[in-house]
Amino acid sequence: MIKKPFFGLGKPKLKYTGIEDIEHDIQEIPLSDRVTLLLKSTEGDLDDLVLSTGAKVRTGERLKLTASNNRYLTSTATGTITDISQTKGYSGQLFISVSIDAEKKDLWDDGFQNKGKEPTPETALSFFLSLPGISDLSSLIKTDNPLDTIIINGLDQDLLVATNQLIVKNEAENLAEGIDYLKNITGVNRILFAVPPSLRPEAEKSGVEVKVIEPVYPNAMPRLLMKKLLGITLSPLDSCEDMGVGVVSAEAVVALRKAFVHRKAPISKILTVIDKENRSIGVRARIGTPVKDILTALNINLTEGDRLVLGGPMAGRGIYSADTPIRHDTDAIMVQDKGQVISGSNDPCINCGECIRACPATLPVNMLVRVLENGLYEEAANEYDLLSCVECGLCSYVCVMRIPMFHYIMLGKHELALTGVLEESNG
Ligand code: SF4
Ligand code: SF4
Repeated sequence: MIKKPFFGLGKPKLKYTGIEDIEHDIQEIPLSDRVTLLLKSTEGDLDDLVLSTGAKVRTGERLKLTASNNRYLTSTATGTITDISQTKGYSGQLFISVSIDAEKKDLWDDGFQNKGKEPTPETALSFFLSLPGISDLSSLIKTDNPLDTIIINGLDQDLLVATNQLIVKNEAENLAEGIDYLKNITGVNRILFAVPPSLRPEAEKSGVEVKVIEPVYPNAMPRLLMKKLLGITLSPLDSCEDMGVGVVSAEAVVALRKAFVHRKAPISKILTVIDKENRSIGVRARIGTPVKDILTALNINLTEGDRLVLGGPMAGRGIYSADTPIRHDTDAIMVQDKGQVISGSNDPCINCGECIRACPATLPVNMLVRVLENGLYEEAANEYDLLSCVECGLCSYVCVMRIPMFHYIMLGKHELALTGVLEESNG
């Protein structure tokens, strides 16, 4: 398998949305009548369910799902469980979906109040497997191979998104305190704080080493942060954690502080809503809130043919239903008017080379797309380095023929994962 030893100069230079481009006030989204919580799952997970419909739950309560493993969800509302089912997300990823008909008044579960006094790894993993801004907290708490560095990402990963920047701007003091909790639960003392130049003053209040990143897309992606801040180029099959480095959002650090100070599992998150005029709006909503309720609260109307995306315009994932709930790691919702949607085409590649010049991983994208179009996924990985793709979407953005390369790439990676090729290569 090819392993690229360096990153190229990404073109074109697309600037991230800055904190100066968004209102600093965050709009509160009312609690929905129903919240739906999602947990990644596999076939057969519903066979040994221990949670049942009709059960009454409290806000912040741990909801253990199956008898065979210890995974759980944290209820973000008080109410009654009305549905437990399996559903598919992007690229066919399976989830267990738990819907709760929510009551207006929160009754808090007292499990964390009683047992969550000390900020230890055990406490953290017992009460919040996920936090706003991070879907799997255990990736930072590795007992077998502890991390030696954590990068706090104060930038956002896509254009028009400003979720983390809002948090750095509005909650600098809370971030400083959250970093102490982060050190306690991970045992990591070397913390770097990556921010755009405009947020340097706020970041310097944190007391950790501040690294200013040029706010040019896709510099804030974890693999590029690793390269720029630590000089580490990851091979395609290595994660940041494999190299002893955790990358965590500023939102997750503030949520960690809030959890231990208030001794309540965090139930809401900040996200950026990008409306049809490409305006970015910061909102706070319960995890599990359907997208449609957030749009309704902001008076954003959907009509047939509009496109909904979780994430930003470059690397976001399209969704087919406005009932889709927001998850811990949903950083943005984008709504595109049907008149703005640019459809992909089936036209052939003309070998102009724009995608190759744009690719930050220096992949031969024009060749890659030829094999992916023909379903030759192993060839894409072995001959054209598919797995070095950092999923930035720049190739699709620049393609003059509107070939939907990003989607071909994501499909190719998904198919390889299904066939087990990724695991074999890893071994
Ligand atoms: S999405 Fe396209 S441009 Fe970005 S790293 Fe992958 S192949 Fe390169
Ligand atoms: S930008 Fe599009 S048309 Fe040009 S080489 Fe790449 S895939 Fe082919």
